[in-house]
Amino acid sequence: MNMKPSNNVESAGIISSWLCTGCGTCAAVCPKKSIILKIDQKSGIYLPNIAKDKCNLCGICLSVCPGREIDLKNLNQIVFGQEANDPLLGSLIKCYAGCASDCHIRYSSSSGGIITALLAYALKERIIDGALVVRADERKPLEPYSFVARTIEEIICARTSRYCPIPVNNSLREILYSEGHYAVVGLPCHIAGVRKAEKANEKLKEKIILHFCLVCNHTPTFRATQYLLSKLNTGRAVKEIFYRGNGWPGAMTVRYQDGSERFVEHLDFKYWGFIFQRFFWPRRCFLCDDKSGELGDVSFMDPYLPEYNRSEKIGSTLFIVRSPFADDLINKAIEDGVIAGSEIGKERIKESQLLQEVRQRNRARRMLVKFFKQSIPLYSGRPKGKVKITDLFKAAFDYLLIRSGDYSFYAVDLCCYTWKAGKRVKSLFLRN
Ligand SMILES: Cc1cc2nc3c(=O)[nH]c(=O)nc-3n(C[C@H](O)[C@H](O)[C@H](O)COP(=O)(O)OP(=O)(O)OC[C@H]3O[C@@H](n4cnc5c(N)ncnc54)[C@H](O)[C@@H]3O)c2cc1C
Ligand code: SF4
Ligand code: SF4
Ligand code: SF4
Repeated sequence: MNMKPSNNVESAGIISSWLCTGCGTCAAVCPKKSIILKIDQKSGIYLPNIAKDKCNLCGICLSVCPGREIDLKNLNQIVFGQEANDPLLGSLIKCYAGCASDCHIRYSSSSGGIITALLAYALKERIIDGALVVRADERKPLEPYSFVARTIEEIICARTSRYCPIPVNNSLREILYSEGHYAVVGLPCHIAGVRKAEKANEKLKEKIILHFCLVCNHTPTFRATQYLLSKLNTGRAVKEIFYRGNGWPGAMTVRYQDGSERFVEHLDFKYWGFIFQRFFWPRRCFLCDDKSGELGDVSFMDPYLPEYNRSEKIGSTLFIVRSPFADDLINKAIEDGVIAGSEIGKERIKESQLLQEVRQRNRARRMLVKFFKQSIPLYSGRPKGKVKITDLFKAAFDYLLIRSGDYSFYAVDLCCYTWKAGKRVKSLFLRN
């Protein structure tokens, strides 16, 4: 491993060059407990703060950090005993479409509630003693946090996606110092951090037996939620936010202190229909090249396919099974009626996530940033490919959009009005 002793994640430039994903792995493994992740209000993401008087420059934090480098080639060998067998999806055994058999879980989760149902099943069958998941903080409703769920109620309570930064791996420390076997649920960068930490720490590797990965295009910064709340314009104090739920694709529920509620459809213009999709990206996410979560034992995603877009109302999850252990668990869960699932072709998964387009988009983004002599994260084993000039222009445009949210909400408003006006003019021309 390319580990430089005498460096920590700060002195190695991970934070100053915007390579930090805010995963929290460094904080969990630091033997001196000298790292705390804090929200940087300006960028709306978590960044590590290092107490320099406590740090002995042992370099452990840097060795587990997925910010600058994820050696997918080497980690695939260690984890799956082979190099990735698909250039876009990574190592895989088979792919499924399915849902939780419990209607409440299915309806109130993000997609089809498969993660929640599988974790609850693994806990009930004593395959695991707990699972690293996330939940809302009653005192800080806009800042969900990670914890180790040890009961089925806690796992159900942690369901649904939360589209804001969470340093999930902070809680790895609890697993490291507990007896038993555990599952972890995280985004691709969280899971990469876990795999790197397992490589450095045999004990952790023995304890974590399931790695459930959410497919991830990006995590919107805290400013995205703040913007959306400002557009709801209620002036009331927020008690709770559920980013998903209410069927598929579902809606966000904002519950206020006075007991009132507001719903925002998942594909509303203020939400994933435009704002969350286009603005408020952390810079590290702009350069991420592991959308499908190649280091998970299973990767889970929404079923963005024509047949589901047309008729799915309750919820379904697509998932890629990568390890024999997870494959076994899924087969048993299907046999026992905990989840319903049927195999689908891997090309459908690529189609649902536009993976070919995303890979091309990423190449262009990385080339653009490199041209301006900025640091880019390394993902080994990616095949080289050509970059189209149109993709380069698009990358530059995307970059301007994601950065505009860093300055002010007025900049975002201005972009939205221009976009809407452009659409109206286009439709007038088409009509004539
Ligand atoms: C930031 C983000 C981006 C995503 N991007 C895409 C995408 O581009 N395309 C796509 O198809 N799917 C994406 N997903 C995944 C999708 O939203 C669903 O999570 C997935 O389909 C699983 O659905 P489910 O109903 O089976 O999960 P559920 O049963 O609802 O369980 C979700 C699990 O994820 C955990 N979790 C929730 N939020 C986070 C978080 N921020 N970090 C770590 N763990 C979390 C919960 O604790 C819970 O255990 C994204 C999810 C997130 C959080
Ligand atoms: S381990 Fe995670 S939180 Fe820590 S510096 Fe690296 S990317 Fe950032
Ligand atoms: S003590 Fe070691 S792990 Fe902790 S911050 Fe310093 S270099 Fe990193
Ligand atoms: S896009 Fe990549 S870096 Fe950003 S949150 Fe998702 S997995 Fe992490």
